[in-house]
Amino acid sequence: MSDESTIRAEICEIGKRVYAKGFSSANDGNISCRLSDGRVLCTPTLICKGFMKPEDLCIVDLDGVQSAGHRKRTSEILLHLEIYKNDTKAMAVVHCHPPHVLAFAMTGAEIPTGLLPEVEIFLGNIPRVEYETPGTQKFAETIKPFVAKANTAVLANHGSVSWANSLERAYWYTEILDAYCKSLILAKQLGEPQKLPPDKIAELQQLRQRFC
Ligand SMILES: [Zn+2]
Repeated sequence: MSDESTIRAEICEIGKRVYAKGFSSANDGNISCRLSDGRVLCTPTLICKGFMKPEDLCIVDLDGVQSAGHRKRTSEILLHLEIYKNDTKAMAVVHCHPPHVLAFAMTGAEIPTGLLPEVEIFLGNIPRVEYETPGTQKFAETIKPFVAKANTAVLANHGSVSWANSLERAYWYTEILDAYCKSLILAKQLGEPQKLPPDKIAELQQLRQRFC
């Protein structure tokens, strides 16, 4: 596992990518990564993800109690901690508000499967998590039923959350989801998207076992 200073730099780098892609406006979103001692390094509250410095980050335990960092931890760390507690393989979490995902999150429109290879391989089924007030424990617990079954979820009227064995991957899943949602919105203007044949979907699901 990488050392703490490498992870601090990596969180800042992922923050830049999240902000550059327009996945978080102003101070939206939060990013975290498990440290080798079991604690979690995370972004502070009220900071733009595109301009973070390694020393801005906070360290919390799995109950959310902050033990390091001069800024206050994000209240939404509770969502990340629920993922870490329910999936021991999850090492990193990226939560943000990608605009094309938000279009689905706000309307409740279904995100179909069986249309694009990358989505089948890397995301699989994308659950929709019921709305709760952000930052609360009740909000954090809404993710619980989906942690073992998925790696990315749409948070109703709120945004997206992705988790993986690395920061890079958790970010990838978010980027794949927003690109997919964007393509779905574009495709809808031209006609009905055509599903892949069931045998081809099955092949992609086998690939998923290898890649995820
Ligand atoms: Zn949020």
